Amino acid sequence: MTDGIVFSIEEFAINDGPGIRTTVFLKGCPLRCAWCHNPEGWSPLPEKMVKRGREETCGYRISSGELAERLGRDRDLFRDSGGGVTFTGGEPLMQSPFLCEVMDGLKDMHKAVETSGYAREDAFRSVMERADSLLFDIKLVDSALHRKYTGAGNELILRNLKTLIASGKPFVARIPLIPGVNDTRENMEATASLLQGAVGLQRVELLRYNRVAGAKYPMVGLSYRPPFDEEKEPAVYDAFTGLGMKLLVL
Ligand code: SF4
Repeated sequence: MTDGIVFSIEEFAINDGPGIRTTVFLKGCPLRCAWCHNPEGWSPLPEKMVKRGREETCGYRISSGELAERLGRDRDLFRDSGGGVTFTGGEPLMQSPFLCEVMDGLKDMHKAVETSGYAREDAFRSVMERADSLLFDIKLVDSALHRKYTGAGNELILRNLKTLIASGKPFVARIPLIPGVNDTRENMEATASLLQGAVGLQRVELLRYNRVAGAKYPMVGLSYRPPFDEEKEPAVYDAFTGLGMKLLVL
């Protein structure tokens, strides 16, 4: 049984998949998106966090069996509401062996995984095969810009996206709308063309930039200096509905 590091478990979530859900936040992320609002999810290890002047530890170790048992207690609630469990992070695929074991312990429950897609291809496949649906983040189609704003190119992400599309697995494409970074006609059209014809695509979600994104940085000893104008409203360019895709702007 593998141990993992979790930094939050939120019950009664309604925005991370169908029905009433429990969202599990796994620690560790290989990317450094300039707009990330969960910097406490970056380090793969538990770390100190200062909240309202009080120091606490963010993240704790838990075995796959213990986590599956805890999540399984709400089985009836999930079944009645058509809900389930959503795994996010950080990047949950950074702990793919642990995640797979937890999912194997939740066979009769709906399981969704939110991922940046930045994960080894074998890890991506193993998690995808166990999930009922995925929330796949797509930030920038241009790899040089992706590297500039997230710290890594997107070749691996686009390969995993292709694998997901070819599988026919249900998924939601999530695009954060960052003013002056990816809210361009060019980026939206390139994203739409990647998604065109994907039979598993349930909808595209455009998530407006969160102006309180920087709030948690001082809590983990970091400062937030976004290289874009936070005050600017992001442009909402719909390159999707004309191609038959459902679009939600949040
Ligand atoms: S992939 Fe998600 S958790 Fe990781 S840095 Fe980007 S926004 Fe933050």
